[in-house]
Amino acid sequence: FCPEKKTFHSLRPAVDLPPPSLPLSFPAFALSSLPSPLPSHPALVDAATSAAVSFPTFFSRVDALAFALHSQAGLTRGDIAFILSPASLDIPVLYFALLSLGVVAAPANPASTSSEISRLIRLTKPSIAFSVSSVASKLPYDLPAILLDSSHFRSFFEVEISHPPLAVAIEQSDLAAIQFSSGTTGRMKAAALTHRSFIAGTEGFLALRSSGNDVTLLPAPMFHSLGFFFTLRTVAMGDTLVVMDRGTFQGIMRAAERYGVTLLTAAPPIVVAMARSEEALPQNLSALERVFCGGAPISQNAAERFSSRFPTVMLCQGYGSTEGGGISRMINVEECRHQNSVGLLNENVLAKIVHPLTGESLSVGQQGELCIKSPTMMKGYIGDDEANRKSFDAEGWLKTGDLCYIDENGFLYIVDRLKELIKYKAYQVPPAELEQVLHSSPEIQDAAVIPMVNCRYPQEEVGQIPMAFVVRQPGSKISELEVMDYVANQVAPYKKVRKVAFVNSIPKSAAGKILRKELASIYAMPATPI
Ligand code: AMP
Repeated sequence: FCPEKKTFHSLRPAVDLPPPSLPLSFPAFALSSLPSPLPSHPALVDAATSAAVSFPTFFSRVDALAFALHSQAGLTRGDIAFILSPASLDIPVLYFALLSLGVVAAPANPASTSSEISRLIRLTKPSIAFSVSSVASKLPYDLPAILLDSSHFRSFFEVEISHPPLAVAIEQSDLAAIQFSSGTTGRMKAAALTHRSFIAGTEGFLALRSSGNDVTLLPAPMFHSLGFFFTLRTVAMGDTLVVMDRGTFQGIMRAAERYGVTLLTAAPPIVVAMARSEEALPQNLSALERVFCGGAPISQNAAERFSSRFPTVMLCQGYGSTEGGGISRMINVEECRHQNSVGLLNENVLAKIVHPLTGESLSVGQQGELCIKSPTMMKGYIGDDEANRKSFDAEGWLKTGDLCYIDENGFLYIVDRLKELIKYKAYQVPPAELEQVLHSSPEIQDAAVIPMVNCRYPQEEVGQIPMAFVVRQPGSKISELEVMDYVANQVAPYKKVRKVAFVNSIPKSAAGKILRKELASIYAMPATPI
C-alpha cells in the first residue's frame, strides 16, 4: 500500500512484458514462448471422443486456416468475426487463426436467442460468422457464415500455403477479442480486449509457473472471458487442454480421471458439487493438483468442505472480470489457506479502494469499490461513450462495481456487488435486459429484476437467482407463471426469471433509477423452497 497515493500494488514481483511498441500478435507471442521443438504431448484433447491434436498439427492447422480465411474469405486485420458455437477442438484453432490475421474474435453464448444475437451483431458489426449447423439458424440471414462442422471448413486445414505465410504486422494494442458483458449497469455491451491484454495475462502465469506442464480441463465455456483467456493461455504455456462442452458434473469428473487432469478450471457450481459428500467421485483423481475457481463467489464453508474432502488438492480462488481480465488469484498452499479471500492482486495490477459515495481513496482494511489499472484490462466498450465514461474515472481507473477491501497481508476480499449484475451459475444475467423484456408485455406497467433474497434454494450452487417485481397494468390478471413464461420465451435459458412478486409500485430515486437495495430489503422473501 502506498499511503501517499492511496494505491495498492501486487505483492508479487512485477512481470516484464514485451515493450508496448513491439508489434506482436498473441499467436506470435505464444510461439515465441513455446520450446523448440514443440512439446510432444497433445495440445488439445476432446473429452468426449479422446481425439487429440498435437502441437505441430495445431500450429499447421492455424497457419492453413489463417491462409485460407485470408485468401478465400478475404479476412484481414481489423475485421470482426462473430462466433456462435459450443466448445470443440476447432475453437482454439479458430481463435489462433483469427488472431494471427489481426481479425477480432467476438464469441457469444450459443444458448442465446435470435433476438439476443441480433442485438450483439448490431453492436459489433461483424463481416463474417463462424457457427455450427445446430445453432446457425439463429444468425441473421444476411451475415455470411462458415459452418465449423462442414466439409468446407475441414478443407481449409488441407489448404496448401502457396506463398509464404502472411506477414501481417499486428500491434499489441490491436483488438484481439470482443467480449459481451453488461459491466456495472445496463444491457450487454461489447468490451474490447487487445492482444497485449492476453499477452500480459499469460506472462503472469508463465512467470509464476511452479510445476511442470499441466493437463488442464476447461468445462468453463470458451466464449466467456475466463474460458477464452484459459484457451489462449493453456496453448501458449505448452500445457494440454482437455476440451469439453457443458459437461454434467459426473462427466467432468470422469474426464478428470480419464485424462489425468492436473488443473481443473471451474466455476463455483462444480466446486460445490465436488465438496458435497453424497456426490460419488471416480476412483482415481490422484493426478489432480489444483482447482482454479473463479467467475462468482464461493462460500468459505463450501471451500472448507472441498479442502477436507480433497486434502491434497489446492483450491485456488481467482477473481477477475470481462472488463478487467484477471485481477487476483492464489498460487500456493499458503495463499490457499485464506479461503474467504480471492487471493493477492495479480502481478502488474494496481488497485485503489474508493468510497462509493464520496469517491475518496481508502486505506488498508477499509471497504469500498475496487478500481484497477492493469495491462489486462479492456480498452473500452465499442461505440458506447456513455458506458465508457461511467466505467473509467478521469484518471483512467476501471471501476469493477465490486465492494472490496484489502487486508494488511495484501489479500483481497469481495464483500458485495455494487453493480446491478446478477450471476446465475457464474453466467451474466443483466437485470436491465430482463426489465426491458418485461416492459414489452402489454400486461405489465412496470418491473424491476434483482437477485432473490432470503430463499432456501441452494444458492451456494447456482449463485444468484433472478427475481422480478412486477406492477400489473390496471385490469391485468397475469399470473406468476405467465410472467415467467413470457420472459423464458425471449431469453437464453440461464437468464430466466425464476420467481415473481406482484407489487403496487417500484421504488425509484428522483431521477427514476430503480432503488434495488430498497426493493431487496422491503421485499425480503419468506423462506420458501422453489
Ligand atoms: P464476468 O465479467 O462475467 O467475469 O463477471 C465479473 C464479476 O463476477 C466480477 O466483477 C465479480 O462481481 C464476479 N466475480 C468473479 N469472480 C469472483 C470471485 N472469485 N468471487 C466473487 N465474485 C466474483
